[in-house]
Amino acid sequence: MKKKEKIVAAEREYRVGRDKTVPVSDYYGEDTFNLKVMRVKLPKETYNKILDAVHDNAVLDLETADIVAQTMKEWAIAKGATHFAHWFQPMTGSTAEKHDAFIDPVRPGEVIERFSGKQLVQGEPDASSFPSGGIRATFEARGYTAWDISSPAFIRRNGIATTLCIPSAFISYNGEALDKKTPLLRSNKAVSEAAVRILNLLGNREVKGVYSTLGPEQEYFLIDKDYYYKRQDLVLCGRALVGAPPAKGQELEDQYFGSIKERISSYMHDVEEELFKLGIPAKTRHNEVAPSQYELAPVFEEANLAVDHNQIVMDTLKAVARRHHLACLLHEKPFAGINGSGKHLNWSLSDNRGNNLLNPGTTPQGNIQFLVFLIATVRAVMRHADILRASVASYGNDHRLGANEAPPAIISVFLGEHLTRILEDIERGRVTKATDHSIIDLGVSTLPILSKDNTDRNRTSPFAFTGNKFEFRAVGSSQSISFPATVINTIVAESLDDLAGKIKASLKGKGVNQAVLDVLKKEIREIKPILFNGDNYSPAWEKEATRRGLPNAKTTPEALPALVTEKALALFERYRVLSPVELKSRYTIYLERYIKDLEIEAKCLHNLCMEHVIPAATAYQATLATALTRTREALGKGVDLRVQETLLRDIVELVGRIYHKDRDIMDALKKAEGHGDEQERAGTLYREEKLRMNELRDCVDALESLVDDEVWPLPAFWEMLFIN
Ligand code: ADP
Ligand code: MG
Repeated sequence: MKKKEKIVAAEREYRVGRDKTVPVSDYYGEDTFNLKVMRVKLPKETYNKILDAVHDNAVLDLETADIVAQTMKEWAIAKGATHFAHWFQPMTGSTAEKHDAFIDPVRPGEVIERFSGKQLVQGEPDASSFPSGGIRATFEARGYTAWDISSPAFIRRNGIATTLCIPSAFISYNGEALDKKTPLLRSNKAVSEAAVRILNLLGNREVKGVYSTLGPEQEYFLIDKDYYYKRQDLVLCGRALVGAPPAKGQELEDQYFGSIKERISSYMHDVEEELFKLGIPAKTRHNEVAPSQYELAPVFEEANLAVDHNQIVMDTLKAVARRHHLACLLHEKPFAGINGSGKHLNWSLSDNRGNNLLNPGTTPQGNIQFLVFLIATVRAVMRHADILRASVASYGNDHRLGANEAPPAIISVFLGEHLTRILEDIERGRVTKATDHSIIDLGVSTLPILSKDNTDRNRTSPFAFTGNKFEFRAVGSSQSISFPATVINTIVAESLDDLAGKIKASLKGKGVNQAVLDVLKKEIREIKPILFNGDNYSPAWEKEATRRGLPNAKTTPEALPALVTEKALALFERYRVLSPVELKSRYTIYLERYIKDLEIEAKCLHNLCMEHVIPAATAYQATLATALTRTREALGKGVDLRVQETLLRDIVELVGRIYHKDRDIMDALKKAEGHGDEQERAGTLYREEKLRMNELRDCVDALESLVDDEVWPLPAFWEMLFIN
């Protein structure tokens, strides 16, 4: 039992967390330099300036920044921090930080701790090693990080190191966004301004500002760390490139919401403790559909904060896993044959008093407002389904979208039966009866009372209205939610403005409500093709969607060009979210990333085959061959060994096929290198490589089921998914 001896002891010791009798509310946010801390620690005048900067985007003067920095430093040092770091989100999709010690030499052999306002407000990391999609080539390599005052600084503990992290934007020498935060902040501003404009037009004059809210439901896998380190593919690519499906997968449907294993719930508890200290409202935890798959959902927050927090959630899930001798896989498709992981992105708009603008109201005015925001959002998706699809395009997510476990690559909107009926009635100018107690009253005589949608659920739709928010379900589990949110904010800003223009034009001689309904009537007709309440997984929908003319970009190379159409470039420029240069750079970065991900997988597959699969198969081959000769020696020529011979022949043949397919893959990889532009290369690689890699995998998986488990060097799926 050589191999099995190495198998993990599933029972491990749990880290003892903090005293359980201390309620979470006591330590929630203790590691963040939030407004509460600032109110206590800063002079009143300074604190008020911070408030202005957070709420009204007022610029902070250096003198104030100095005071804040000084206080922040003392607070951080008391928490054990020795260093500070501007923490930002370059286009890699993960976060970056460069640590600087607080120490500052004063005399030879003597230092003091210093942290100035200038150091707080601005950093100057070298930008040349981050993806810039061409921006870097045309401008200076230097980049700047700028303190994002709206997201609290926080303490990060890593082993025995403790660092003060300062959430920051990352821009080039010329002010171009080199990160994911800057465009998000700009899109927030765009949608806020458009929303306030239309609210004012609707007669709602109290609202001063609007912000988008996000609630990302994070899915992930956990496997034992011993297995993880035995698989090069998991370590380097985040997913198993080969591996036969286990005899039992998710077919018993016994995993979803099932009772959580002791080891896993201890892990979850530890994760949550870390998140609570950082003021991240981790609310829900549960088993997901696939074995060893889980979900963590926070309470929604203002978009910028939610994006930062989701990055921290992903980091924390991984870091805490290591402490529990587990590995957390955030990849969209770690294991073929069972569900992959997504990140449902719940999105809505809220006014500055916290009223959700997608909440059906209780007054006629509230309902008119609701309908305007609802239809503006649907209209935005209708007009820019291609951009929305591109915003979630990645090599990893391609494995998932359209694989009957996640929404298809076709973007459509689910509104549910009741709401759909309401819209149809508005379109026809017809009166509907209420079907339940919660009513939508439009306050216009021709449309008295309508029923509110509150029960419909459709898990197959990529963009579903779920009662008081939209849920964008096509986002991949490992992706930053920033860009999808940026896109939704921007396209909705445009639709709000368009609708406001139309309502204004229709106002002559009628009340606002009537004008709104007249405009909505026409809009509802136009948005119909994007509405779909049926099963998005069915082949019939794909046909129907083609008939309706909806885009269906199945792969990343097909999806990404939507970012650089005239339509997209003009839209993002108009709302000052991304200049044409910035948007094109993103398109290039995403394409480059696709190419690199695919190349890394191809090379890793090659290594797996040559270093693990073929050696194991030939070793077993030799054992079989020896057994054959020995048996024949022992029992004489007449013995029937056809079964053993067939087995040996099958193995020899599979090894040959693997060897040749692998050679073809490596040859094609070389040929594609430096051939054509990124778009062409991505397309070629998909066509030339992806299919072959799938075929190669089939051969390896077939071989795995023939070879002795004791000599097969890679942990099997059943082990990874069921022993923990
Ligand atoms: P579901 O029934 O779809 O699971 P939940 O109410 O449990 O709905 O919410 C799922 C996620 O949606 C949570 O992360 C939640 O915080 C988030 N969410 C709820 N309301 C909003 C909103 N107004 N804006 C953004 N996200 C929201
Ligand atoms: Mg879920």
